[in-house]
Amino acid sequence: MDKIIMHIDFNSFFASVEQQANPHLRGKAIAVAGKAGGDLRRSVVTTASREAKARGVKTAMATWEAKKICPELIIVPGDPQKYAMITERLLNVCRKYADNVEQFSTDEVFIDVTLAADNYFGASMLALMIRRDLKATCGSVCTASIGVAPNKLVAKLASESVKPNGLTVVRPHEVEAFVRTRPLADFCGIGRQTEKRLAELGVTSVDTLRTVPRARLIELFKSYGEWLHDASFGQATDVLKDDTLPAKSIGHSYTFPHDLQTLPEVKKNLLAMADKVAWRLRQQKMVAKRITAYVRYGDFGGDGSARLLNVPVSDGLTISQNAWQLLAPQLELERGVRLLGVSVSELQNVALPTSLFRKEQRMQQVVTALDSVQTKFGADAWRRASTLQTSFRERTSGWHYDHLAMANQT
Ligand SMILES: [Mg+2]
Repeated sequence: MDKIIMHIDFNSFFASVEQQANPHLRGKAIAVAGKAGGDLRRSVVTTASREAKARGVKTAMATWEAKKICPELIIVPGDPQKYAMITERLLNVCRKYADNVEQFSTDEVFIDVTLAADNYFGASMLALMIRRDLKATCGSVCTASIGVAPNKLVAKLASESVKPNGLTVVRPHEVEAFVRTRPLADFCGIGRQTEKRLAELGVTSVDTLRTVPRARLIELFKSYGEWLHDASFGQATDVLKDDTLPAKSIGHSYTFPHDLQTLPEVKKNLLAMADKVAWRLRQQKMVAKRITAYVRYGDFGGDGSARLLNVPVSDGLTISQNAWQLLAPQLELERGVRLLGVSVSELQNVALPTSLFRKEQRMQQVVTALDSVQTKFGADAWRRASTLQTSFRERTSGWHYDHLAMANQT
């Protein structure tokens, strides 16, 4: 079945978000550069607003240079947290409508709408719905250009072709003709180096690229030459990387304000952490087979081990008991416990197994009831009495590191 791929790209992203956040900046030439507290005169333009672009301000231009071209330019320091929030909203909107969602950059997503849209007319309607939804969730200043096509390559070329706020639909029979109208520099996969090499060969447009025999391109560029040949006709076998796939592991770790010195402290903190892990596990309707526990000491040395369970679990008590059994034999308290971590992996997407034993059945009923409390009142709605003394009770925010988020950063 032929795919229908949509590419959504915010226009002048950072600048639009700043203008959305601050009405005084709307309609004005602004440039996002550097970060708060930095020397903005020495930084370069990360994003220019539509108004600034019209005056000739470009990305990667030094701010002093931009100021020279456009004296009324307002330089705004970058605020990554603000942009991340809008990216998250974009992803959430897309997940409502798409079969698959791939985040391509902070302000771009590819979504597979083959099933959701059924045909190109449906895809156009879907694009308009997404646009309306984005306006409601991100604000009217944050406009996006949307491209719809049979593959990622052409969908991106399509969204690129009309800015701002464009909607360009390229049906399969229109692909060859549409691609001809696009400059080579707009192709995702043709960088400046390639462009230069192609220019040396006399190839400066899609049309001239098409005239180079496929075999010749392969001779010059190996398998990339094959890609170039196909791309010039708008053909690509690119597939969406699905970001909605379930997590591979879930974990929490915590660095204590003071090194822990006693076993009960370690045990209680492991339990509190295991409860958090278990809660997230159940939220994703998953169970885990592997449990990992680790410790770091005041001297920055550390240790950890893992075990595979026979029966997958999703309750905090079992996870913490296993974590404790893993850590206890190797714990060297005299070194002072600075950090503890618990994580689960080998996740399976299945419902909680129903137990044959009465005691466990009752335990599951309790867990289910507590989950509904948390769903309603938030993750901190309840705590075990035995974990009330744990160190991270005093901290209301930033008490853990999300392992997946950390893994994604690196
Ligand atoms: Mg963009």
